[in-house]
Amino acid sequence: MIFRMRMIMFVAAVLFGTVGLKIFTLETKAETFVQNEATATTNSQNDSTKTIIDKTANISIPERYLTKKFLLGKVNQRQDPDFIEIAPQHTPYKLRLLKETYSAFINMYEAAKKDGIELKIISAARTYNDQCLHWNAKWKKLTPHPDLNDDLKKTLYLLRYCSLPGISRHHWGTEIDLNSLKPSYFETQTGKKVYDWLLQNANSFGFYQPYTSRTSPNRTKGFFEEKWHWSYRPLSAPFLVKYKELVTPDDIIGFTGDNTVKYLNLNEWLNSINPDLIIE
Ligand SMILES: [Zn+2]
Repeated sequence: MIFRMRMIMFVAAVLFGTVGLKIFTLETKAETFVQNEATATTNSQNDSTKTIIDKTANISIPERYLTKKFLLGKVNQRQDPDFIEIAPQHTPYKLRLLKETYSAFINMYEAAKKDGIELKIISAARTYNDQCLHWNAKWKKLTPHPDLNDDLKKTLYLLRYCSLPGISRHHWGTEIDLNSLKPSYFETQTGKKVYDWLLQNANSFGFYQPYTSRTSPNRTKGFFEEKWHWSYRPLSAPFLVKYKELVTPDDIIGFTGDNTVKYLNLNEWLNSINPDLIIE
């Protein structure tokens, strides 16, 4: 029933043009992605020995973070010394973050606490494999419906809130989901207070919301609004630059529906974020 209502809302949203998913215009292809990759490879050949430095953050980034394996979440985060387990006062779960992100979060957490705001991390770093399991489970749960009668439609439906393995920013150890994954929580008195505090203060700790309102600049496409998802910009902005140099659609494989990747404009999903998280 809930699914049917969601489907009706979804179809209505498509009809009124508020959903940027190109279900019916399948001219989307990996061309732009590959083209950008080619340009970026030329740059990276010149710069391959340099460490990317985000000038706004005055931070230098270890070379090992700037590899395809790392950016696809294919390092063993559970045993990697750069991924720190998050303490129980910051999360009810067993989660990890890159050490730089975690230390910035702790500063933000303490400041929030002083203002009477409680921040809880409910999702953090995820490996490629974690995301495959997550994606496959969501796919399996899809109720058969005439509007979801092929793999591409299923992929686009799930992509509204769930990232494909390989294109999830959560692979990087720079992303946190805070307090609740339900948009309705952020409409409650507590949720509003938390979100307002984040809007006013998170940037000063390096955290930015990638998936802002769909009415914001850059945001007519890509994932729906996520008030819970915050990204540690000093690392994630340069990571995105490097990711686009190194990763190709051929790397995005090994999960249910991976046959649809060739029809997606992956660049569109990667770039449809808060412009503050994009280094020009
Ligand atoms: Zn998230």
